[in-house]
Amino acid sequence: MVPTIDAFRCDGCGICVLKCPPQVMGVVKEVAVIITDLCDECGICNDVCPVGAVRFKLPERHYQPAHPAYRAVSR
Ligand code: SF4
Ligand code: SF4
Repeated sequence: MVPTIDAFRCDGCGICVLKCPPQVMGVVKEVAVIITDLCDECGICNDVCPVGAVRFKLPERHYQPAHPAYRAVSR
């Protein structure tokens, strides 16, 4: 999931911009922005934001066991 910025909480400090590995963040009008198409969804911006302005949640992953028909045939 691509993070979203809480524009009311973000103070535009730019820490996330410096730490974003693919450098797809910037600050516009003192609010952080993300080029979402290029985001790696690593969550680092969420980790480094000192005021909790980044909303980021990993998607819930529910793995289903493979259907018996797809099990590998032992040789
Ligand atoms: S999740 Fe990672 S790649 Fe995406 S904006 Fe945040 S730091 Fe950058
Ligand atoms: S680290 Fe947090 S407060 Fe600073 S610019 Fe990024 S989102 Fe805004």
